[in-house]
Amino acid sequence: MTLSYTQATPAPLASARRVVIKISSSLLVDGAREEVRHDWLAGFIKDVVACRNAGQDIILVTSGAVALGRRVLKLPPGPLRLEESQAAAACGQIRLAHAYQEALALHSVAVAQILLTPSDTEERRSYLNVRATLRNLLGLGVIPIINENDTVTTPALRFTDNDQLAARVAAMMEADVLLLLSDTEGFYTADPGLDPTAQFIPEVRAITPEIAAMAGETRSGTGRGGMKAKLVAARIAMKAGCAMAIARGSLAHPVQALRDGGRCTWFLPEHSPVAAWKIWIAGSLNPQGVLNIDAGAAQALQQGKSLLAAGVVAVTGAFERGDPVSVRIQNGAEIARGLIAYNGDEARKIMGHKSEAFEHLLGYSSREEMIHRDDLALV
Ligand code: GLU
Repeated sequence: MTLSYTQATPAPLASARRVVIKISSSLLVDGAREEVRHDWLAGFIKDVVACRNAGQDIILVTSGAVALGRRVLKLPPGPLRLEESQAAAACGQIRLAHAYQEALALHSVAVAQILLTPSDTEERRSYLNVRATLRNLLGLGVIPIINENDTVTTPALRFTDNDQLAARVAAMMEADVLLLLSDTEGFYTADPGLDPTAQFIPEVRAITPEIAAMAGETRSGTGRGGMKAKLVAARIAMKAGCAMAIARGSLAHPVQALRDGGRCTWFLPEHSPVAAWKIWIAGSLNPQGVLNIDAGAAQALQQGKSLLAAGVVAVTGAFERGDPVSVRIQNGAEIARGLIAYNGDEARKIMGHKSEAFEHLLGYSSREEMIHRDDLALV
């Protein structure tokens, strides 16, 4: 079999609107001294700030808490018991966040720390809250720093690794690009450390069984993720319409290098994040309720606007906030599907009203859109 892998597409990073960057422990923490590599961090943060100043939203997913906490607790080298790694994460996370805070403060950029568990990206209520908080932080110009909440998770209940966590964050936040920075420069047909004939693959457009078979079991010294883990992350990202790169992060300016078209492997999705999200809303969800809307609201939806409560004339079904619902015009024809921002009882109370009346009707003021246009797909 002759394999020929070429890169047809220019680097998607320059045109991305929102970028999630995952930093592995092996980049950030000097394994022998168990200390933050401040010089490396300063160069990396300079790149991050340049992206942000160019108008891109940046979210960092960083490992390193356990690696930094080991030293504080004087734990011996080698594998840790669960309670030791939970304690190490608790001690190391403060240092980790502090290192980013200091590096970003030099550029007058504020940082926010968010620690997640798998249920936070899977359970609807937490998912919506995390998403809203991250959107707010980005709107305020803050750079969110995310890690797994290692002190409360156990092996059965955690993300397999931070590659997967980063991919879930990228999907949840409709990022265009996910960068996995580690000590691996990209994806090869085999482990180049073991097989001298291994070929570098600059671009992957589908994770075929052939690609999956190439992943092997490579691991880096400090983190949990290997090549297989990176492919799991690529699947999650691509399904959400997010392009993912595996790239070497140890350069002085790793993000700038990628912006300039540097060597890496790109995993390129078929659709954009917005299109992938809307395809998912329109096709793969079972509507839990029906909203009938008036002609004015129907016209607004056709123009790409949100569905406001004022245009809703009837609400049927029992549903929770974030559930998928069907939107129909008065003759019953379905024109859209979306994720509703209110539960069934609330929706019935506010339908037909403008937002000024919501406080009186619900007992609290709340958002004007019954379905935000980002969460609405015309069918
Ligand atoms: N969350 C872990 C830490 O910060 C790292 C997990 C991983 O490397 O994938 O130490």
